[in-house]
Amino acid sequence: MRSYYIHTYGCQMNGYDSERIAATLESAGMFSAASPDEAELVILNTCSVREKPQHKVESHVGKLRQNQINAGLPLKIGIMGCVAQQEGDNFLKRFPYVDFVLGTDNIDMLPYALNEIASGKRLSETAMYGDGKFHILPFERKDSVSAYVTIMKGCDNFCSYCVVPYVRGREKSRSQREILDEVKRAVHSGVKEIVLLGQNVNSYGKGIPDETGFAGLLRSVAETDGVCRVRFVTSHPKDFSEEIVRIMAYHPNICPCIHMPLQSGSDEILKKMNRGYTYSGYRDKIVAAKEILPDILFSSDFILGFPGETDEDFEHTFDAVREIEYEMIFAFKYSVRPGTKAELFKDNVPDEVKTARLQRLIEAQERIISKRYEKMIGAKLRVLADGVSKRGGNVYTGRTEHNRVMNFRSDSPVKQGLIVDVRLTEVKRNSLYGELNK
Ligand code: SF4
Repeated sequence: MRSYYIHTYGCQMNGYDSERIAATLESAGMFSAASPDEAELVILNTCSVREKPQHKVESHVGKLRQNQINAGLPLKIGIMGCVAQQEGDNFLKRFPYVDFVLGTDNIDMLPYALNEIASGKRLSETAMYGDGKFHILPFERKDSVSAYVTIMKGCDNFCSYCVVPYVRGREKSRSQREILDEVKRAVHSGVKEIVLLGQNVNSYGKGIPDETGFAGLLRSVAETDGVCRVRFVTSHPKDFSEEIVRIMAYHPNICPCIHMPLQSGSDEILKKMNRGYTYSGYRDKIVAAKEILPDILFSSDFILGFPGETDEDFEHTFDAVREIEYEMIFAFKYSVRPGTKAELFKDNVPDEVKTARLQRLIEAQERIISKRYEKMIGAKLRVLADGVSKRGGNVYTGRTEHNRVMNFRSDSPVKQGLIVDVRLTEVKRNSLYGELNK
C-alpha cells in the first residue's frame, strides 16, 4: 500500500487530526493521492455531532465498496474520528469490507494498524487515555499560512444534546511547553496564523496545577516570535472571562473575534440543554467585552427545534441574533444523538417548523452582515493573503481579522502569508471583494 486519501468530516478538531493522520502515513512511506479513486487506502475521519454527517459516513462507506467492486481494486478502508469512537467493533461487524476502526485517542496506532491490515487482519481500537494531560507526537505540516494547534480535548460539560463528552472523553490539556513547541515549529515552517483548538478553550489547564490556564497560554502564543495572528475556538459562555478580552486588547495580533455559541435565546431551552447560563448573563459578557475592545465581534452556533422549543422560545433566539449582531452564525436543525440525555426528550418539533425557523434565522443574519459591510465600503481591512484566488489572474484571496474570506485585485503579486490593507469595494453573500494599492 503506497497511496492514501483522507476524507474529513466535521469540525476543525477533525481537520487537525487529519493533518496528524496524513503526517503519520507519510512517515510510513505513503503519499497522498489526488482522489479516492487513485488511492490504495481511504480513511474517513468521521463526525457524529449531528445525524446527517453520521448518515453521510455510512453511505460513503457503501460507495467506496461499490467503487472497489467496479474497479476490482484491492482498496483498504479505515474509519477514524467520532463515529469510529462511538461505534468501534460494531462498525467492523456492520461493514465487513472495512479494514480498521480507530477511535479519537488512537491516531498513534496507525502504523500498527497498517501492519495488521497488510497481513490481512482487521482491527478496531477505541481505548481512551486517562484524565489529566494528553500528548500529541510532533508531526510535519504541509505548507500553509494558517495552522490549527490543539490545546485540549474532550469536554466535561455534558450539554444534553451533545455526544462530545462520550466520543472525545473528559477534558484533558496538553502541557504549555508542548503547545509552544508546536507553535514554534509551525512558524518555522512558514505558518503566520495560529488557531488554538479545544472544545472549551477557557477550561484549558483545569486540574493541572503547573499550567497557567488559557489566559497565560494565549499571552505566550501571541508573544511567540513570528506569530502574526492568533485565533481560538471554542469559548463556552459560562467560562468566558474578561481577562481573555484584556489580553486580546493588549496584543494586536490576536484577532478580535470570538466563537461563543449561544445555542438558544430562550432560558427555558438553555436549561433543558444544560448550558449553564441565561441569555442575559451571556449578553452581559458580550457588552463587557465590547467596552474593553470595541471592535470585537462574536460568532455563534444555534440549534433550531430542540425538543419543546415553542414559537415563543424561537422568537427569543431570533431577537438574540438581532440584538448581538453576530459576525457569523452556524445554525442547524436539531437531531437526536444516541446516548445523550436529550434522547429521553420527545423530538416534538416538526421538521418543516425546524426548517422554517432555520431559514428565518439565516435570512436575519444575512441582513445584519450586508448592512454591516455595506456601511464599510471604501474602508481598508487587514487581510492575511493566502495566494491567488480560484478566479486566477490578478485576483488574490485571504481572510480578514474577523475571519471573512476577502478576494481582492492587486496590480503586483501578493505573497502568501503577507498581511495587507485591502479597500473594500463589494459585498457578496459569502465573501467580500476589494482592491489593493488603490
Ligand atoms: S460544551 Fe456542550 S456542546 Fe460543547 S462540546 Fe461540551 S458538551 Fe458538547
